[in-house]
Amino acid sequence: MAKSPKARTATKSLGTKMTAPKLALAGSPEAVDRIAKAGINRGKTLLKGILRTKGRRTIANTLVPYNEILRAVYEVAQQGELLFNAHSDSAIRDAGNRVYQAAMSFLTELTLNRDLYKAFTKLGSKVGDAETRHALFKILRDFRRAGVDKADATRARIKTLNEEITAIGSEFDRNINEDVRSIDLESADLLDGLPKDFIESHRPKEGKITLTTNYPDALPVFQYAKNEAVRRRLQWEFLNRGYPKNMDVLDRLLVKRNELARLLGYASYAEYVTEDKMIGSATAAGEFIKKISDASGSRTQQDYEVLLERKRKESPFAERLEPWDPSFLIERVRAEQYSFSAQEVRPYFQFEKVRDGIFQITGELFGVRYRRVAGPAWHESVEVYDVFDDGTRLGRFYLDLHPRPGKFNHAAAFPLVVGLRGVQLPQAALVCNFPDPRTTKGPALLEHNDVVTFFHEFGHLLHDIFSGGSKWMKTSMGDIEWDFVEAPSQMLEEWARRAEGLQGFATHHSTGKPIPKELVDRMERASAFARGLLIRRQIFFAALSLAYYNRDPKDVDTTALAKELNAAYYPVPWYDGTHFQCNFGHLNGYSAVYYTYMWSLVIAKDLFTPFLKARSILDPKLAGKYRRSILEPGSAKPAAKMVREYLGRAPKFDAFRSWLNEGVGG
Ligand SMILES: [Zn+2]
Repeated sequence: MAKSPKARTATKSLGTKMTAPKLALAGSPEAVDRIAKAGINRGKTLLKGILRTKGRRTIANTLVPYNEILRAVYEVAQQGELLFNAHSDSAIRDAGNRVYQAAMSFLTELTLNRDLYKAFTKLGSKVGDAETRHALFKILRDFRRAGVDKADATRARIKTLNEEITAIGSEFDRNINEDVRSIDLESADLLDGLPKDFIESHRPKEGKITLTTNYPDALPVFQYAKNEAVRRRLQWEFLNRGYPKNMDVLDRLLVKRNELARLLGYASYAEYVTEDKMIGSATAAGEFIKKISDASGSRTQQDYEVLLERKRKESPFAERLEPWDPSFLIERVRAEQYSFSAQEVRPYFQFEKVRDGIFQITGELFGVRYRRVAGPAWHESVEVYDVFDDGTRLGRFYLDLHPRPGKFNHAAAFPLVVGLRGVQLPQAALVCNFPDPRTTKGPALLEHNDVVTFFHEFGHLLHDIFSGGSKWMKTSMGDIEWDFVEAPSQMLEEWARRAEGLQGFATHHSTGKPIPKELVDRMERASAFARGLLIRRQIFFAALSLAYYNRDPKDVDTTALAKELNAAYYPVPWYDGTHFQCNFGHLNGYSAVYYTYMWSLVIAKDLFTPFLKARSILDPKLAGKYRRSILEPGSAKPAAKMVREYLGRAPKFDAFRSWLNEGVGG
């Protein structure tokens, strides 16, 4: 086993085959533990093999077995994560989480393993083809970023800090998730303005109506409740979730991350975390935020004035918008001045038609076919499909699209098997929560937002499948720059927003007529309203996330800094006495890099420009080029290089700017 002959023969002799995602299909917690243990043990054995090797370092005796370690252990992490989020048996969910943690901890240890690092420094990053050299470059960089070359005592401290940060981060998230607050109303009249089904499901109990801070309650109240006091009271609770507990937790999180970054040789955690992104530095992130802020300035002012004017219809002496006003007023203006109601489009978005429509559009664009297969899955309702390109099978995906008790309640794409050229085909799953045709009384109708989400997540899925020919784990799509990863998914949303895309599949569930172009255009004009204000709110989030992490935390009063940045970027005042920072969950998961959403969006808008210039957004030639230059390479080269190759020029800000100004002045 010293030279890991298994890994080598595997790469050479096997064709590209469909492997079974064994862990994701495990039927008991014991099976989960057993399969995971085998995967991690395989990683450990391969590691020993690499370290035992004497003599000259080669791709075959170092990179190949290392790649095999990553392949074995990532499958445990990824499939464990899927089980944790999607299995209907809570014992299997727990087992999924357990093995995910174990796999991640093994992967972290790997980056701090000095002997392994030495093996890679001997091999260097100047051997092999371009893709291999890029993999080696990233491996060496990640070792250094983890602190592998620091003194023993420092490395021990780094390890402790990493564990503490993970624990503090979980505490932060848990405090947000568990702090569900509520207000009580004395009369149903106070729900005036809310949709009928909302009012029906909030009947008084013992003379009281309870509204919680959970999204299904809070968001409709903020958007539709005519009673200002109701919105104000619920907003107060909403913005105080996690308070006061998370005040101290956040302070500790900032301090520990700062200490870690300093130990690793960086001026701040923001410097550390931006270094391996497209943006490259905290300074550049700050400049980007300023650029978006400048570009949205006049638009924001206009939006603000329209909303204030609308407010004065009911409160003639209002001098400003209050924090509980924007969502409500935006809905009013969309309904009254753009005569658009979300209810109008729902009949055109029957679940099955949307799913088949996505298949049809992406099939035409990218020249692929999807064939339903009777493959096994983790739940009987999951649909399994193989993707074919002209007779060649490219990969497999799983659609787990409807709610179930215990299932995660957002929408996401989960890679299950990373596609590797000549080794194995890619497999990925979509886990979403769309209305279920098997349980709804009439047709299962989606909101337009759901349709956009479906396209978005399918964009991630296609990225997983089309990049399935990577040579190494370190050049697969999963290793791409974090601030690029949302670009292909946000790009695919474009087809869900335009009549040319929607009319191909969005037909009325009872009349069968395609959605009128006029309705789609009206929907888009309505949704463009207040774009400046909404972008400014995102900029405030991005600026806050960066500011908490780009300075010495001992001088930071998190509330004072939040108020200051709110005033700088967002025209609606801070709600005094509330503590948004205590429930801004991204401060843990994203730390300083909330800007990534907007950065990816700027790229997505730019990537879509060739389609806008073409006769049709369904042009398969353009889509083919996009597939080859952006999706297929995975992370075999820097994202900026792919973008330049696809566009044939340097990326530009213009497309984002014109999107930002859509609908202005008319
Ligand atoms: Zn996404």
